[in-house]
Amino acid sequence: MRQIDLRSDTVTQPTRAMRAAMAEAAVGDDVYGEDPTVNRLESMAAAMLGMEAALFVASGTQSNLLALMSHCGRGDEYIAGQEAHCYKCEGGGAAVLGSIQPQPIDFEPDGTLDLGKVARAIKPSDHHFARTRLLCLENTQWGMVLPLDYLAEARAFTLERELALHLDGARIFNAAVKQGVEVAEIARHFDSVSVCLSKGLGAPVGSLLCGSSHLVEIARRWRKVLGGGMRQAGVLAAAGIVALSGHVERLAEDHDNARQLALGLSQIKELQVDPARVQTNMVFVRVAGKDAAPLAGFLEERGIMIFGQPTLRLVTHLDVSADDVDTVIKAFRDYFS
Ligand SMILES: *Cc1c(COP(=O)(O)O)cnc(C)c1O
Repeated sequence: MRQIDLRSDTVTQPTRAMRAAMAEAAVGDDVYGEDPTVNRLESMAAAMLGMEAALFVASGTQSNLLALMSHCGRGDEYIAGQEAHCYKCEGGGAAVLGSIQPQPIDFEPDGTLDLGKVARAIKPSDHHFARTRLLCLENTQWGMVLPLDYLAEARAFTLERELALHLDGARIFNAAVKQGVEVAEIARHFDSVSVCLSKGLGAPVGSLLCGSSHLVEIARRWRKVLGGGMRQAGVLAAAGIVALSGHVERLAEDHDNARQLALGLSQIKELQVDPARVQTNMVFVRVAGKDAAPLAGFLEERGIMIFGQPTLRLVTHLDVSADDVDTVIKAFRDYFS
């Protein structure tokens, strides 16, 4: 039975082309800076984002942590969304390992952080307080794309307030494809950007932290300290190169599939879903309380994997086709009829 896994865009299998590139990759010791494939991936990412440098790291969590530890020191503070991945979903790493204090504030419904609220959260320069150093945004945030003019405002604001600006751009390519701009048009507003290769881009492993050469050198040191210095990592970077060169434009298909899925599910009266809110590859669906728990089991018997309660988050990706979307809509219909 064909499996259709909508739990996340992290579940993709490496394509044949990726596996071939991994098998053939020229490698060296990346801790000595001698892995040609890692070096190629890093230059390619830096060029695409319009940044001076990039660092290939094990995961998005490591990439965000390196950014936080490179911008902030002991006793410093970063401001992030209450639901931001780098605050809520990374084990408190910045506090645990960096002695950096988070200052979370609520996201606005469109995934932005209100800059007035950010301004009020910045601590005065006084020895009672942590030193506020950094603002972190997330794009996409729950599948929503941050408007480009908001990014420009955030840049101007952080310059004026002497804060650094980091983007958790795990899905920055989804945002760029949705907005029809080069990814550099988003990245240019930030001092650092973390990009996941292992989400919608479909690589098996890895993220990139992009920024100035100076920042990336600091991050490179912390990566080693954290045990993230990998040796012949070119076998992994090779898959990343295939992802960046071949899997960016096709994200539009994931967005179309997500919209079709939302449209189909919105016809089912027991479900609450607003297709107009689907901007990229995520569909959020509220299920009438009593029906939610057995639904996942019913779908699983049909090879469809979902998660989230009572709000489901359904994610489209490389391994979900338009036909799969039809199959999923039909299975939901069967459940409710
Ligand atoms: C997945 C994700 C990360 C972390 O990536 P991992 O590779 O899973 O550590 C960071 N931020 C956001 C928004 C993510 O979705």
